[in-house]
Amino acid sequence: MARYIFITGGVVSSLGKGLMAASLAALLQARGYKVRIRKFDPYLNVDPGTMSPYQHGEVYVTDDGAETDLDLGHYERFTGVSARQSDNITSGRVYRDIIAKERRGDYLGATVQVIPHVTDAIKQFALADQDGHDFILCEIGGTVGDIESLPFMEAIRQLRNELEPMQTLSVHVTLVPYIAAAGELKTKPTQHSVRELASLGIKPDVLLCRAEHPIPDGERQKIANFCNVRKEAVIPALDAPSIYSVPLQYHEEGLDAEVLRGFGITDAPDPDLSSWHDVTDRYFNPEGEVTIGVVGKYVGLPDAYKSLNEALVHGGLANRTKVNIKWIDAELFEGDDSEIVSELEPLHGILVPGGFGERGSEGKIASVRFARERKVPFFGICLGMQMACVEGARNAGIAAASSTEFGDTKEPVVGIITEWMSEEGIQEREEGGDLGGTMRLGAYDAKLGANSHVSQIYGGAQAISERHRHRYEVNSKYIAPLEDQGLVFSGMSPDGLLPEIVERPDHPWFVGVQFHPELKSKPFDPHPLFAGFIEAALEHSRLV
Ligand code: GLN
Repeated sequence: MARYIFITGGVVSSLGKGLMAASLAALLQARGYKVRIRKFDPYLNVDPGTMSPYQHGEVYVTDDGAETDLDLGHYERFTGVSARQSDNITSGRVYRDIIAKERRGDYLGATVQVIPHVTDAIKQFALADQDGHDFILCEIGGTVGDIESLPFMEAIRQLRNELEPMQTLSVHVTLVPYIAAAGELKTKPTQHSVRELASLGIKPDVLLCRAEHPIPDGERQKIANFCNVRKEAVIPALDAPSIYSVPLQYHEEGLDAEVLRGFGITDAPDPDLSSWHDVTDRYFNPEGEVTIGVVGKYVGLPDAYKSLNEALVHGGLANRTKVNIKWIDAELFEGDDSEIVSELEPLHGILVPGGFGERGSEGKIASVRFARERKVPFFGICLGMQMACVEGARNAGIAAASSTEFGDTKEPVVGIITEWMSEEGIQEREEGGDLGGTMRLGAYDAKLGANSHVSQIYGGAQAISERHRHRYEVNSKYIAPLEDQGLVFSGMSPDGLLPEIVERPDHPWFVGVQFHPELKSKPFDPHPLFAGFIEAALEHSRLV
């Protein structure tokens, strides 16, 4: 029987509920329990796939090809449990399915309503795919009191009645602000938030109180009294020096013990937190330092590259190296070369990440050229790999080389994919079809060239599986001229048709990948490409 932990947020958004859910799951896992985390998003998009990264941060892609909320990335990084399609639901998806059913006549003449039809669909989602899990954590997006989240709150309320008495637990994340002028912490916003939640029929069992200052005992007792919980269930959640400290910090504050107590579990094994101690030790005691430039488009909002940011840090953990990331707007490099030299020369590695659209593409191509000519470690991801091939083609004398993503071109080194093989057989897309959910998405295998640099990076592997999210690909017609110019296609799809990885044997570290390796990197299991890239950057730092 899976036990359910419902996590809601109060007072303000951005309290780090996702990180909190991931940390609690990691603590339960460290005690030997099998965990899974789900995200309920109240917005009306069917999935975040079509939202701008500026609106919603990165789109996190799962092995089974779902485009999901970036919180699923936190969950996967902290627990190592691969997220799947059935771990993220939005109001948009619920309504889409209900309306399709209604049009088919499946409701047999009934009036279709929020209660019970929408709430039933939410409950079904929460209860699906329990396969042997001990705990399923369900994080509700948004803040209590939002109109959009009401059906989700109602579904939780109902579930708490329908499941066994000790089978569910409610954790409410709130804010205890510090008013500097008065020199005091204020508990009133938490009291109001809990009252709001209670008015929806949900009594929280554990309060996780985000605060910038320690919460004195008296204030903890006051929150407990006003909010109808035990004092020990008021868990102070102070700002942490690093996200990797959060599980350890919450454990110190008694979060996991209190949650288990809420389920009546008193004989749980002590947690094995050795991997978290190792990660924090590596993070806080680096022996080297590098600066990596990420030349992209959404550089104003680091959440747009959340997994990439994390994976670079993981690459640092693997090498006991502090990684500074310099976010650089590719458009800066579209004038003369002076800007590029002053920005890129001090760096120890250059990374061109995934992206969409023409804006900034010439700046990305210029960065690839700089990295190639100056022999600076270069890592191109998805659009970054495509730009590395366009740059290679231009260097081979194909001056008009471009991608059809940016408009018509006589030399489509990168072109749209309308057909490819997946495990389910041939996938076909129309040019100019729907944008939502129609890319090449999720895990695909690639064959690695024997004796290639990437095969060595992957520990001698001949085949790998990585996650994809793209609509265009490097056109295999250009493989021959590109190979003549020094690029090696060292990874291909198993049918040999789609280029997956390029590298330059005449360069210390130059790798472009069509997939997104950052999505699978974990602090306690850094991705080999990021570990290798940071190692090369460290070597380069000794030269410059
Ligand atoms: N825009 C490119 C494509 O669709 C690259 C996508 C990406 O970088 N994720 O193929």
